[in-house]
Amino acid sequence: MSELGDMPAEDFRRYGYELVDWIANYFEHIGEYPVLSQVKPGWLRESIPASPPERGEDFAEVLKDVDRLILPAVTHWNHPNFHGLFSTSTSSVGVFGEMLTAAFDMKAMLWRTSPASTELEDVVLDWLRQMLGLPAHFEGIIYDTASVSTMHAIAAARERAGVKARDLGLSGRDDVPLMRVYSSEHVHSSIDKSVITLGLGLKSLRKIECNERFEMIPEKLAEAIDEDIENGYLPICVIPTVGTTSTSSVDPVDAIADICEKYGIWLHVDTAYAGSTAILPEFREHFKGWERADSIVVNPHKWLFTPFDLSVLYCKDLSLLKEAFSLVAEYLKTTEEVKNGMDYGIQLGRRFRALKFWFVIRYFGVEGLQARLREHCRLARLFASWVEADPNWEMMAPVPFALVCFRAVHEGIGDLDALNEQIMSEINASGEAYLSHTKLNGTFTLRLSVGSIRVEEKHLAKVWQLLNDRLESTIISGTQT
Ligand code: PLP
Repeated sequence: MSELGDMPAEDFRRYGYELVDWIANYFEHIGEYPVLSQVKPGWLRESIPASPPERGEDFAEVLKDVDRLILPAVTHWNHPNFHGLFSTSTSSVGVFGEMLTAAFDMKAMLWRTSPASTELEDVVLDWLRQMLGLPAHFEGIIYDTASVSTMHAIAAARERAGVKARDLGLSGRDDVPLMRVYSSEHVHSSIDKSVITLGLGLKSLRKIECNERFEMIPEKLAEAIDEDIENGYLPICVIPTVGTTSTSSVDPVDAIADICEKYGIWLHVDTAYAGSTAILPEFREHFKGWERADSIVVNPHKWLFTPFDLSVLYCKDLSLLKEAFSLVAEYLKTTEEVKNGMDYGIQLGRRFRALKFWFVIRYFGVEGLQARLREHCRLARLFASWVEADPNWEMMAPVPFALVCFRAVHEGIGDLDALNEQIMSEINASGEAYLSHTKLNGTFTLRLSVGSIRVEEKHLAKVWQLLNDRLESTIISGTQT
């Protein structure tokens, strides 16, 4: 270790090669790890000294501790049998992107401090826009997560509604009516968090009833808006979801866009999960009307093999976002006539996220990405066909993309919720596969998401076997009657 300065270049090279080998082995053998970490809460904290080392350590020792301490505490999102929540995974080229991003360590605030990040972001987001089939007037900006993208969209919607929250705030004012944001009852919790963060409060979020397919009912939305206007409230934003989190249901964006147009309300489409499938022409029907949106969020970190984090917010008029957030302190004033990323949100410094996504698009090509998404959707439908054909199981929701909602319904078992929860818990505890759940109309429902870049048909066959084995052993052992 040198007295001052960084690690010597020859050491960096040596450990760097070692680490790349480590990652290559990890990806090669990913299927052999337990999907869910098997450690107990507190294990890692107790295994690591509570105080930092006084003297620098040999980096070889640190790398050994990755195997000894970190790896057991990893839940492997890249595992082909990770089917919980939404199955998301990184590609190897995405990892290369992160390596270089860390090496450049640029803070994309001003064009001047980060020309590569600022301009590549625009190029890559325009590529994605074309891939998704969105009109040319949509301009994008990258944030870390959909939660943050949506929060910015609602803030812009609030400004456009004329509330002047940017300058006047909301507190101490009696001229501001209750503002309303509308979404379906199946909306992601990030919308609730956005209204909390923006000082609108949960009271401002009105959740609209869904039909039996878990899709927002546009007539109920129109009724709610009429009622709110009559009460003197101010509707500012409607958020339909294409690919809801619980079931991946699709709100009817086109009919909702009609309503937004009629009342002049901001339309923000949350398609954080399913948006990627718009690169498949045969899936575009699900997105009908999204071209009429004021803003759209889509997450390449969910289903375009780009390592977390990278969320894209497209806006019909990005200047509204700038009006809501731009604030240029003296030390940030520059002379170039350029786009400065810091003007479009709450962050000053921004990571060079576009690089990894650029790598992914160039390495796989549009065709390669389409082929992988198509296969995931095929596998999900295949799994659904096994469920449908077996009287011990039933489907709980349609499968528009690659998420299957289902449950065990074995005759003679009284408490089906408990049965399904037990099956899920046992599979997850085994480390063989990871499933998650939701509740649909109060009923415990298993969710199986297919989205890993490494998933193949054999992995789904394995889950199906596990499910049936668990069901059989539960029935035989009589723990659920
Ligand atoms: N919106 C939808 C529909 C989601 O499914 C999710 C996460 O699964 C989010 C938003 C939040 O995504 P993020 O983790 O990027 O904030």
